[in-house]
Amino acid sequence: MSRRYDMDRRAYIKTIGAGGAVAAFAGCTTDDSSSSNEEIVPGTASGFPPFELTRDGELVGFDIELAEAVIDEAGYDHAEWTDIEFASLIPSLSQSEDIDMIAAAMTITDERAEQIAFTDPYYEANQAILVRAGGSIQPEEQEDLSGVEIGVQSGTTGENLAEGLIEDGIISGNNLSVYDNYTLAVEDLTSELIGAIVIDTPVARDFESNRDVAVAFTIPTGEQYGFGMRQDDDRIEDINDALATVRENGTYEEIANEWDVL
Ligand code: GLN
Repeated sequence: MSRRYDMDRRAYIKTIGAGGAVAAFAGCTTDDSSSSNEEIVPGTASGFPPFELTRDGELVGFDIELAEAVIDEAGYDHAEWTDIEFASLIPSLSQSEDIDMIAAAMTITDERAEQIAFTDPYYEANQAILVRAGGSIQPEEQEDLSGVEIGVQSGTTGENLAEGLIEDGIISGNNLSVYDNYTLAVEDLTSELIGAIVIDTPVARDFESNRDVAVAFTIPTGEQYGFGMRQDDDRIEDINDALATVRENGTYEEIANEWDVL
């Protein structure tokens, strides 16, 4: 795959992604307009199963149900979900204020915490290397990725890890394709346009069960997911209290079991 081809493809993906960014999903919300409670507008980036995905046109997943349960428990109403690209979530929350809360399997990082506030952690994950099931590319460790075309989703910790592979001289910049969405990367993996994907472990396992792909090996990164809120939004205290309550009262476990993420 030539550099030029990569760049063209990336531009193509960007165009698709930008069109998708305006979509907001109303299907799954139970927005109660008769209530006088203050509203929280949640935002996510679907295509990251089982945390957020669309099924029959409806936005569903572990994050969606957990965030709604936590918002309800905190005494707020959840407005319709805004479904945009992952890399647009932080600007939408902290700059344009189109959303009030990010629920997108977002890892708590120091860099992000400079721009937004994170709730207490609600899930732990590592990174995985995803390849074609039974294919010729079967790396066992990071050094084996030398010369392999790698795909990641823009703005993720997986992208950071891939940048590290470039810095360490394991792959070259030409070997890295950055997608707006991991689902597009998985499509390019199965159609042999790229050789491997760096992605969060639980999502890699989900793709492994549903597509012709397999986890080659995992990289322990010890990431913790948190919901994102604006730094000046005091409601984060209520959300943290509600998160603790749903963990204690079994709601968390019920939702986690439903989405098979325990
Ligand atoms: N947990 C990863 C991150 O925060 C990936 C999240 C995602 O792609 N939704 O960067």
